[in-house]
Amino acid sequence: MKQIVRGIVLLAIMCMMFSSVAFAEGNTKPGGPSTNGNDTISSIMTYEEMVEQLYALEKRSKAEFEVTTLDDYGKSEQGNSIYVAKVGHGDTKVWVQAQIHGDEKLTTEAVMQLLKTLASSGGPDVQTLLDELTLYVIPMYNPDGSIMNTRGTLLMDENGEPVSDDAYIDLNRGWTLDGFKANESKVVYAYWADVKPDFAVDLHHQGFKTVYGTNEATSFSLGISLAPDGPTLPSLENGYYNKVTKQMQGYVYDSLTKYGYTRIDQYQVGGGKYYIDIRGGVVSAMMMGLNYNNLNPDGHSNPAIFFETKGNTREGSLGQKSNGYLTKQNYLALKALLTGIATEEVHEVDPDHWYDIPAYPAEGYFTDYAGILPIN
Ligand SMILES: [Zn+2]
Repeated sequence: MKQIVRGIVLLAIMCMMFSSVAFAEGNTKPGGPSTNGNDTISSIMTYEEMVEQLYALEKRSKAEFEVTTLDDYGKSEQGNSIYVAKVGHGDTKVWVQAQIHGDEKLTTEAVMQLLKTLASSGGPDVQTLLDELTLYVIPMYNPDGSIMNTRGTLLMDENGEPVSDDAYIDLNRGWTLDGFKANESKVVYAYWADVKPDFAVDLHHQGFKTVYGTNEATSFSLGISLAPDGPTLPSLENGYYNKVTKQMQGYVYDSLTKYGYTRIDQYQVGGGKYYIDIRGGVVSAMMMGLNYNNLNPDGHSNPAIFFETKGNTREGSLGQKSNGYLTKQNYLALKALLTGIATEEVHEVDPDHWYDIPAYPAEGYFTDYAGILPIN
């Protein structure tokens, strides 16, 4: 009995990782958006609108701004193209991905705002980004899920029907040697192995939580998917990733706290009991230098962090009023991170500043390879 209860608890937490709510998948039907009465996804950018906007931005951009599909690598399970905008001409390559979870839609909005700034601007701050960085931006990793308004996606058979068993899949668990079931994972992985970025950031939404020690709702959580000072990260690249990811988040934290309306904390799960240490997540696999199908024989790897914005369209917790500021903080966080990388100011941050970001006193690491591990 105890075992069963523990299994259920683990399953519940598993559902929450990287922004979700336990058992929430039950609310959504493939093929139709779940509106739950009070959300406003009709006002949120669709796949088609994103494609249209990308090409419009490319057309009017004064900067290097190139929109491509990843069709040479393949398409989504339902045959949709995955789009990338490559922007800038700098030596440092930064990977930005949004909406790997198809109901986390404001992440795409934020990325499109960033692209708009990069395409139009002309200001010195934007020029620095374009001169120092080359950005590889995937505004919608999971087009099928976005269209269905579901977190994951469906594996399809050759007749274009969902495969009978286990058709539903979470794309943020697929980057493992025995993973890569969905086309999206194979396509984006192969592209990543070709690009070999220097840094990456992954954008998500999460359910309701409060900042530790307060009754204020968290508007934004900062996460590292292999826990800082945890079981995995310190051993990678002689500790460099353990240092630089904390510096990146410390830099973003300082940049965002300037704005009064944000309520920022560290990303934790299980009501604050755990940090995640999830090796099969996309940005974790990047840090671990995963070599799948011998596409990454040199073991390229790069440091990566993620952001979690409040709310998602599955829960019906996005409202028109809050969408604006939620998108804006995401945009500001992204722009701050890119600025910190471009100016190299991130490397001046004290890595221990990570621990100044509010967090619950955690008791363990939630892993996808060994259950819960205690924090020593
Ligand atoms: Zn997510």
